[in-house]
Amino acid sequence: MTTGFTMTIAGVAIAGASEYDVLDPADETVAGRAPVCSPEQLDQAVAAARAALPGWSATPFEERRKLVLAVADAVEAQLEPLKRLLTREQGKSLDDAAGEILGFGYWLRGTASLSLPETVNEDSAERLSVTRRVPLGVVGAIVPWNYPLGNAGFKLAPALLAGNTVVWKPSPFTPLTTLKVGEILRDVLPPGVLNVVSGDAGLGPRMTEHPGIDMISYTGSTRTGRQVMAGAAPTLTRVTLELGGNDPAIVLPDIDVPAVAEKLFWGVFANSGQVCLAIKRLYIHRDVYEPLKQALAAYAGTVRMGPGTEAGVRLGPVQNRPQYDRILSLLDDSRAHGHTFAIGGPPQDQGQDGPGYFVPLTLVDNPSEDSRIVQEEQFGPVLPLLRFDDIEDAVTRANAGEYGLGASVWSADPEAALAVGRRLEAGTVWINEVQHLTPYVTFAGHKQSGLGSESGPEGLIEFTAPRTITVRRDGTTATAVS
Ligand code: NAD
Repeated sequence: MTTGFTMTIAGVAIAGASEYDVLDPADETVAGRAPVCSPEQLDQAVAAARAALPGWSATPFEERRKLVLAVADAVEAQLEPLKRLLTREQGKSLDDAAGEILGFGYWLRGTASLSLPETVNEDSAERLSVTRRVPLGVVGAIVPWNYPLGNAGFKLAPALLAGNTVVWKPSPFTPLTTLKVGEILRDVLPPGVLNVVSGDAGLGPRMTEHPGIDMISYTGSTRTGRQVMAGAAPTLTRVTLELGGNDPAIVLPDIDVPAVAEKLFWGVFANSGQVCLAIKRLYIHRDVYEPLKQALAAYAGTVRMGPGTEAGVRLGPVQNRPQYDRILSLLDDSRAHGHTFAIGGPPQDQGQDGPGYFVPLTLVDNPSEDSRIVQEEQFGPVLPLLRFDDIEDAVTRANAGEYGLGASVWSADPEAALAVGRRLEAGTVWINEVQHLTPYVTFAGHKQSGLGSESGPEGLIEFTAPRTITVRRDGTTATAVS
C-alpha cells in the first residue's frame, strides 16, 4: 500500500498532473508520492459529483443508509494495511491509527442510524404544508492532518446520507490513506458520488471558490477558516467551519490527584497534543497544584514517545515541519521569558537532534497568563500548568480569548463542577472527562472556534436545506406531499 496513489474521479483512478513527496514525520523519509490535482482535474471531479447528484439524491434514504454502512465495512476490511499507511504518513502509533480507522467506521454506522426530520406545518381543510430537508448538492470536504480519516468521517457520513455528492480533499501533509480509501470505495458507491482529490496549497482555495460546489465542510485552523469563508462569500456557498481551540480545564481543590492525573494526561497529550479538543491550558487550584504537577510528570515518565511503528510506543512525532517549528518557537519564547519546564523543553536542550519531528512531553510551570504558550493554540505535546486561588479568576481566564471549542471541569463534587461548567464559553463542556464525542451528539465551536455544527441530528441537518411544500386544498383531498 505504499505506492501507486491515484485520485478517484467518477469512480476511476486518475493520476495527478504531477506528484509530490509525502514525508514520514518519524524519520523524514518518503512515505509515498501523492498526485497533484490540476485545476482542470478539480473541474472534472466537481462535474462528476454534479453528474452523480440526481441519481444519488433520488436514491431512497434507506438505500443510502445501507451504502453508508457498506462504506464502513469496506474500509474496516482493510484495517491492517490502512493502519500501517496512516502511521507512516501521520506519525501516530499503530494502535492509535487502528483506533482512528475503526472510529471512522463507528462514525459512519452511528450516523447511518439517524434520520432527517419532517415537520407538518398545517394539515387543515384549506391546506397541507410540510417541511422536509433536501440535500444541498455537491459538498467539498476539506480535512486537516491530525485525524485524516477521523475528521473525514464527520463529514462524509452525514453528507452522503443526506443525499449529497462529495469531493474530498485531505491535507497535503497526509493524503495517502485518504487516496487509498477512495480506491477501496470505487466499487462500493456509484461513480461520482465520492471523489477524492489531493494536491498542493492551491487546491483548497480553488475548492472554496469553485462555482460548482454548493457547500464547504471545513475542519482546520481558525486562520484558514476565515479564508474559507471569504472564498465562499462571492457564490454564497454554504460553509460549516470546525476550527481551532485553546481548551481550558479547571481543576478544583477536592480532586483525587492520583486518580485524575492519568485522565488529564491523556486529555492533554493523546495524539501528541494534536487534537482540536485537547486540554491546552490546565488551571489548577493552588491546594493541589504541586501534587498534580508531580503526578503528571511522573505519569509522563511512563509513556514512550517514538516512531509509531515501534512496539510499546504510545505517542509519535508532531506531524509536519511547519507545525514542529511553530512549537519550537513557543518553547523558545518560554525559555526567553524565563519559564520553568517541569518536564521537557526544547528538543535541542534534551540532546535530541535526530531526524523526525519529536518534541519532548513538556509541562510549563505556571507561566504568566499573557505568555504565548497560554494565549496561542500550541497543537503539540506542550502544556502550560496555571495556578489559581479563586474560582472567579479561573473562570475569567478560561473564558478569555477568541476560542470556544471545548472545556472541562474536574472535581469530586459533580454539582460544584457543573456550577463552574455552566459558566464556560464553549461548544462542549465536560465534567470529569474530556474529548468524549459520539456520532449521536452535536459538536460545535463557539466564538472563533467554528460556525455551524457536526455530528448528531443537528450535524446531519447542516448538509441539507429546508424545503416547504404547501398544497392548497380548497375541498380537494390532497393528503401527501412528496
Ligand atoms: P489548516 O487550516 O492549515 O489546513 C486544514 C485544511 O485546509 C487542509 O486540507 C489544507 O490544505 C486546507 N487549506 C489550507 N488553506 C486553505 C484555504 N485558503 N482554503 C481552503 N482550504 C485550505 O489546518 P491544519 O494545520 O491542517 O490543522 C490544524 C488545525 O485544525 C488546528 O487549529 C486544530 O485545532 C484544527 N482542528 C479543528 C477541529 C475541529 O473539529 N474544530 C478538528 C481537528 C483540527
